[in-house]
Amino acid sequence: MKSLDRLIRALRRLPGVGPRQAERFAAYFLRASQGETEEFIHALVTVKQDVKLCPVCFAYSEGGLCPICSDPDRDHGLICVVEDPQDIEALEKTEAYKGLYHVLHGAISPLEGRSAEQVKVRELLARVHNSEDPVREVIIATDPDSEGETTALYLADLLRGLVGQVTRIGYGVPLGGDIDYMDELTLGYSLKGRTKL
Ligand SMILES: [Zn+2]
Repeated sequence: MKSLDRLIRALRRLPGVGPRQAERFAAYFLRASQGETEEFIHALVTVKQDVKLCPVCFAYSEGGLCPICSDPDRDHGLICVVEDPQDIEALEKTEAYKGLYHVLHGAISPLEGRSAEQVKVRELLARVHNSEDPVREVIIATDPDSEGETTALYLADLLRGLVGQVTRIGYGVPLGGDIDYMDELTLGYSLKGRTKL
């Protein structure tokens, strides 16, 4: 069936969806009522129409500045740099951070041919230069993989001297974890990033 195959092909483009799962999703839509299907389509269309990027931090925003950039109670002298908009959600859930964010939309990856110009690095530098509140600290919270590390070192070089200090998030040992089950890379990094008690 051509139309069913087309739906399955479209669903397979979703991240993490394999052929079996795409078939299950397609079966759901075949069984769903007209109303349920229309609600789904409407949600997709409106999210594409309404959700844009915040012009300051490049997080998702429904028109103009995002809620975090426009919140006067947040510390505007702190910027936490992340790779993806979803990372903000994760950090906000910790309730441990009250500064602003900057979303790079990716990491620098020489292997995949992604240079600094293809992520929002120039925008970060311009932002730091033009900030009304002097930036006391930029916290680099890119992923702890080779691309994230490359990006962190690159940004630290560019930002040094422009802001009070540049820091990198710590590499922790998982809470409730067992030291002897941890991989040596994580354990090595957590030793390097140890803090004084
Ligand atoms: Zn923003």
